[in-house]
Amino acid sequence: MRGLEEKDMANLQGRIALVTGASQGIGRACALELARAGATVALAARNEAKLAEVVAEIEAAVKHNGSGQAAAFALDVASQDSIKSVAKAVLERFGKVEILVNNAGITRDGLMMAMKRADWDDVLETNLTGAFLLTQALLRPMLKNRWGRIINISSVVGRTGQAGQVNYAASKAGMIGLTRSMAREVASRGITVNAVAPGYIETPMTAVLDEKQRAAMMAQIPLGRAGSDLEIAKAVAFLASDAAGYITGHVLDVNGGMFMGG
Ligand code: NAP
Repeated sequence: MRGLEEKDMANLQGRIALVTGASQGIGRACALELARAGATVALAARNEAKLAEVVAEIEAAVKHNGSGQAAAFALDVASQDSIKSVAKAVLERFGKVEILVNNAGITRDGLMMAMKRADWDDVLETNLTGAFLLTQALLRPMLKNRWGRIINISSVVGRTGQAGQVNYAASKAGMIGLTRSMAREVASRGITVNAVAPGYIETPMTAVLDEKQRAAMMAQIPLGRAGSDLEIAKAVAFLASDAAGYITGHVLDVNGGMFMGG
């Protein structure tokens, strides 16, 4: 294990990372932050134009300090074929993936009584099955490498539930079960598996909320403000670092106090 001096807290120099949903919001912030800490980052999502912009942003940001590189991969986590081909392409390009951030996610809100089967299926497939399949596709080389960090982006809603989001909350609670079960399976190979559970974070996903919904959300946040994508990315970079090497099966709440759980 590398030394744990303070300057190394999030030093990811030479590490290879893959971030899903990296075209905007929290995923974009995670990709930038991991690259700033020195990692080479594979950015994956469906929107190739937006991915290219984030890659350019990373290249511009890291040019000065000579740290991480970035490359884009078109990925639809709702398609097993797409997952298989991207996993193969990333491994061919970089040789390994040491840090996997399962961040891609969608919402299809609606009350239970009115929720269409398709809205249930789409959310579960994208948010939960996608994370399972991509992790599985990358796990063998990670096991062989005997070092890995898997970080799943869950949600405060997976902890508390939310009216109008049975599909989304089930997917995010499912991610916590996936995280803890996997953590037990792979710990002996030096791989940690953790979840980050964001609260209300200002991103394109939450930009669709109206004033009334926003005010209701704010009223539940002891710190009295929304979180930023960077605040989630910092937590992810910490869990990816050597400093977090003894943390596994943990759910890190980054929610301004919205939920203070065990
Ligand atoms: P966002 O701005 O809507 O971004 C979602 C990302 O996921 C996009 O980059 C999107 O890229 C990608 N994505 C969606 N479907 C995909 C698919 N089928 N295949 C590949 N990529 C896909 O949302 P965000 O707020 O950054 O959320 C990121 C994660 O944090 C999600 O898992 C979300 O549930 C979770 N979260 C967010 C909040 C919040 O308050 N914002 C709170 C708790 C948890 P493309 O469209 O280019 O594919």
